[in-house]
Amino acid sequence: MPIVSLRGTQKPFTVSKIICVGRNYAEHAKEMKVDLPTVPVLFLKPPSAIIREGEDIIIPPISREVHHEVEMTVLLGQGGKNIPAETALEHVAGFGVGLDMTLRDVQTEAKKKGLPWTLAKGFDTSAPLSEFAPAGSVADPHSLQIQLAVNGAVRQKGNTADFIFRLDRLLSLISTYFTLEAGDVIFTGTPEGVAQVAAGDTLEARLLDSRGSTLASIRVGVREQ
Ligand code: MG
Repeated sequence: MPIVSLRGTQKPFTVSKIICVGRNYAEHAKEMKVDLPTVPVLFLKPPSAIIREGEDIIIPPISREVHHEVEMTVLLGQGGKNIPAETALEHVAGFGVGLDMTLRDVQTEAKKKGLPWTLAKGFDTSAPLSEFAPAGSVADPHSLQIQLAVNGAVRQKGNTADFIFRLDRLLSLISTYFTLEAGDVIFTGTPEGVAQVAAGDTLEARLLDSRGSTLASIRVGVREQ
């Protein structure tokens, strides 16, 4: 199973599951023409979908419309079940940035037919992940900037202060459905500005602190299968 790294430690983290939050920014819900959620929308990606710095997103032949969604990612250092919101942030080992790559045409079709999003969200290479900055180096996880540049031009910009569901509440709720384990990764939702990528594009995602210093970043390419 894939291993992810936490800066400043030699300890490897094995990813056993990736849990994603579907709608966590009001402006993104608006651009997708969906109502604001009252409970978080959750879905999974298989750990085999992870790619890292310098690798390529591979567009599968079933899609003509692959979208980027830049998101803050969270690495669990300690698992648990029914974790109280009050102590949930103590379970976090690190913060990073990831791309929730989405086959938008396949997802739209699945939504219409009431079918699962598995293919649209979990295809191989759908989870580019940066390394993680230690949680101890982040004073407030709700004051971080995320941004994505495609071929050098900024396409998405967001701030975790705008989360609809804050991280402590999210982790607590998720742990009532899924037993969390050390090494699990959470994608926390994307801000507005999602758009299509094309073969030959270079995507660079960044997580920055409130002073604008980079905490984590990843650069990947895009190609056809
Ligand atoms: Mg997403």
